Amino acid sequence: MLERRFGALPDGTEVGLFTLTNDGGIEVSIATYGGIVTSLKVPDRDGRLADVVLGFESLDRYLEGHPYFGAIVGRYANRIGGASFDLDGRVYHLAANNGSHHLHGGMVGFDKALWSAQPRSTPDGPQLELQRVSEDGEEGYPGRLEVSVTYTLNRADELRIDFRATTDQPTHVNLTNHSYFNLAGAASGEILDHLVYLDADRFLPIDAGLIPTGELRHVGATPMDFRTPVAIGARIERADEQLRLASGYDHTWVLNREESRLSLAARVLEPTTGRVLEVLTTEPGVQFYTANFLDGSITGKEGAVYDRRCAFCLETQHFPDSPNRPEFPSTILRPGEVYETTTVYRFPVEP
Ligand code: BGC
Repeated sequence: MLERRFGALPDGTEVGLFTLTNDGGIEVSIATYGGIVTSLKVPDRDGRLADVVLGFESLDRYLEGHPYFGAIVGRYANRIGGASFDLDGRVYHLAANNGSHHLHGGMVGFDKALWSAQPRSTPDGPQLELQRVSEDGEEGYPGRLEVSVTYTLNRADELRIDFRATTDQPTHVNLTNHSYFNLAGAASGEILDHLVYLDADRFLPIDAGLIPTGELRHVGATPMDFRTPVAIGARIERADEQLRLASGYDHTWVLNREESRLSLAARVLEPTTGRVLEVLTTEPGVQFYTANFLDGSITGKEGAVYDRRCAFCLETQHFPDSPNRPEFPSTILRPGEVYETTTVYRFPVEP
């Protein structure tokens, strides 16, 4: 594993960048700032490597602000309606950083935190464990949360992410990695030809604030049906109320599973290169987002202009607004319990 200096925070604190490689030719770089996956190089069907995630070459560009490129998102990934919740009879107020709602952990979420890093070489491959403490009251959340996020580039050519957290008071936790993928290469423009499969019979319809209405709607006969692979662009412009509300896909799919066993949630193929991304997770949901809110105002690595729909995200997570939806799978973590989830990105190729 290679470690280099990525830059420094405004207060002078040094930020490191770790690069993990394996025999399969995969190479991933992760910053201690935000736990950000800054680059992820994977082979195509002819063995040609391309960096398939959006991001920047320098720390300073990340510090200027960005829509969570590659970052660890927490304490609660996705939205919490009205930026508040009632837990055990007490109301907690969070930052309203997305209209009147709370998004991705608030003003200074886990994506903007400096993590301490422990690089290891394990029989399974190079591993980087990132740790931090989210203090009681941080961004309005109760409880002192000890968090660890472990990235392993294993021998099966998988990037495995293990999330773990414990608390000293009841709180809500929902962690994810927010990588933006373009399997043709991060500088390749629109992702509309990528073919997507999602193992989900139902999705969560949203309201105008992108908050789930509470309904679990069957995907049958809707543009949300990805139970057989469909090009992202095939139906994205349809006159569909749900697509209109989000300006494209920006919804949670309810994964078909009874228990939280690590299993395939999504598979995406980029036909011209044969690159495939498979996402496995223990989580009950996945947010499929087609970068509808990128608008060309950000220029990233290799001088690429990040325009609308030049990437997609598959954010494995619990459902948005669960703290206000007792009928959704619970995101409550209590003292003595351990929050443990796993997500795996796999990169096979198709001939
Ligand atoms: C959300 C989008 C949001 C994006 C960047 C995604 O997880 O679903 O609505 O624009 O993150 O913040």
